[in-house]
Amino acid sequence: MSSEQETLTDQAPTAVPFRAEVQQLLHILAHSLYTDREIFLRELISNASDALHRIQFEMLTNRDVLDPESELAIWIEADKDARTITIKDSGIGMSREEMIENLGTIAQSSTRAFVQQAQENAHSASEIIGQFGVGFYSVFMVADRVTVTSRSYQPDAEAAQWTATGGDTFDIAAGERAERGTTLVIHLKEDAAEFADSWRLEQVIKRHSDFVAFPIYADERRINQQQALWRRPSREIEADQYPALYKQLTFDLDDPLLHLHLSTDAPVDLHTILFVPTKRERGLIERRIEGKIKLYSRKILIQEESKDLLPNHFRFVEGVIDSEDLPLNVSRETVQSSPIMQRIRKTLTSRMHKELQDLAEKDAAKYTEFWKEFGVFIKEGIATDYEHRDELLKLLRFHTTQSGDELTTLADYKSRVVEGQQEIYYLLAADLEAARRSPHLDPLTARNIEVLLFNDIMDSFMLNGLRDYEGMKLRNIDDANLELPGTADDAESNISDEDFERLRERFAAVLGDRVTEVRASKVLRDSPARLVSSDATPGREMQRIQQLLGRESTPTPRFIELNRSHPLVMRLAQRAAANAEDPIVAASAEQLYDNALLLEGLHTNPAAMVPRIYELLEAAARPETGSS
Ligand code: ADP
Repeated sequence: MSSEQETLTDQAPTAVPFRAEVQQLLHILAHSLYTDREIFLRELISNASDALHRIQFEMLTNRDVLDPESELAIWIEADKDARTITIKDSGIGMSREEMIENLGTIAQSSTRAFVQQAQENAHSASEIIGQFGVGFYSVFMVADRVTVTSRSYQPDAEAAQWTATGGDTFDIAAGERAERGTTLVIHLKEDAAEFADSWRLEQVIKRHSDFVAFPIYADERRINQQQALWRRPSREIEADQYPALYKQLTFDLDDPLLHLHLSTDAPVDLHTILFVPTKRERGLIERRIEGKIKLYSRKILIQEESKDLLPNHFRFVEGVIDSEDLPLNVSRETVQSSPIMQRIRKTLTSRMHKELQDLAEKDAAKYTEFWKEFGVFIKEGIATDYEHRDELLKLLRFHTTQSGDELTTLADYKSRVVEGQQEIYYLLAADLEAARRSPHLDPLTARNIEVLLFNDIMDSFMLNGLRDYEGMKLRNIDDANLELPGTADDAESNISDEDFERLRERFAAVLGDRVTEVRASKVLRDSPARLVSSDATPGREMQRIQQLLGRESTPTPRFIELNRSHPLVMRLAQRAAANAEDPIVAASAEQLYDNALLLEGLHTNPAAMVPRIYELLEAAARPETGSS
């Protein structure tokens, strides 16, 4: 406890400074956010609803609370003449100490990030508020002064009052309140007077808080529908109610990409609406992906962010799960040990997989959108979740050498294999553009064999769990011992073995430890050189991940293969034969090596190539001497 707080033992009003970040935050809220101000009400109603959920949960095991019989609800009143709004709830309430902590001296870790974002981009409050947990303070977008009077549920607690005007301090004093719960009196700024108008207030409540689980009364009328949409049969629900529920649950501005509504009584009682968002990240801020699934049992919110009723790879799914059969205290252990929970998990998981497969069949374009945003989770699932492997395999999509801009499935690939093809070939590269130029493709292109193109770091990770598909092994085509079905015509080379040997030696001397060997390629056709792996060690993809993460800056040495029939290699061989020390040969060896790394996305510092490229250009620009 800080020294200011220790002196707060008497009941006289005491001024307490807000924490520094909160001060900054208040300043921004009060002075630079003018659009979407109405969402302050959503934030306050959401706090009231949380407080109601918490007392409800407390009362499951503890009846020794203040006012156990009082109605759980939110009351809102506007006074146009006084320009005030009063929001009252019968929730869990706060003691004096809790008010000091919660409303001013404890800064949410995200407050600083919010302050920074908002300073850089002060347009749309709703895009940033909420994701940062600055909920309560948003009231200062519209208020000059706010008084919070609260009384905790603990029977011996006394009421306390908190007042602030958006400046650097707040006052804390004894309060007058007989019943449990919290009352906020909001004195609106002159330019926010519209919110003291009952119809405007009602409009805002309906827009943002219609599905709040407790009644919201305004002027003694119930405003919100307060119905559990998920408990009703889906045929009774209007199409636009799903996105409305989604937005109110998540505060997202976009409609969801997909919803899944399941309402059954047998074999388990299960009512659920799950959503796949449209975007992985929201608004301006990168949002952490975590299960945002609310768990209800018997109308009580028992878990705010349930993570265990869907597998990890579905952690982008949001929504509500409600079941009479759920135990009231759920923990990770309960999910694992309770057969009911296991069954719910199983049902939801297979329905979710099926829903995505159906989407892929019915609306390929929409599935592609899904894949772009959430494909990484599916790939992660392949690497880590053996249990759902078969379902996940159906959801995978790939670019290939033959798919153009479209995405393809493993099943499609399999249907297009050439005669005698026993393996599924893939290539790792920096990006699709680089992949399509990869020298490793030469022998496969010549045989018309399709190759999967991987360019995401997650792909390397996924490959750890994707060693084969329906009896076909997956095979990296940078492999030195690749044996391909079919034949390709031999290309002509007019370098003598002797000249080639000299060039080979020169390359080996220049590249040193970076390569294990320099040799003539049997497979290259259009490209001068490539780097190949000396063996197909299983750790290869992981090594690549390490490299991409910058953990290991020197690439593992590999073979370099030279194409004896490529004009560049032939020229270099001639030069090396004429002059063993020719600097152009040395620079070219370096450049060919760098190019190979670059195409695979493993070059750590491409800019370092520039001086050498100048050197080579300069040599190329020299006037012809006639000696060639
Ligand atoms: P958040 O709701 O994201 O935690 P807020 O700034 O909105 O952040 O609220 C801070 C804290 O103040 C809440 O976590 C809660 O403990 C307390 N609080 C706010 N409003 C109420 C209320 N109506 N009843 C009880 N506690 C409340």
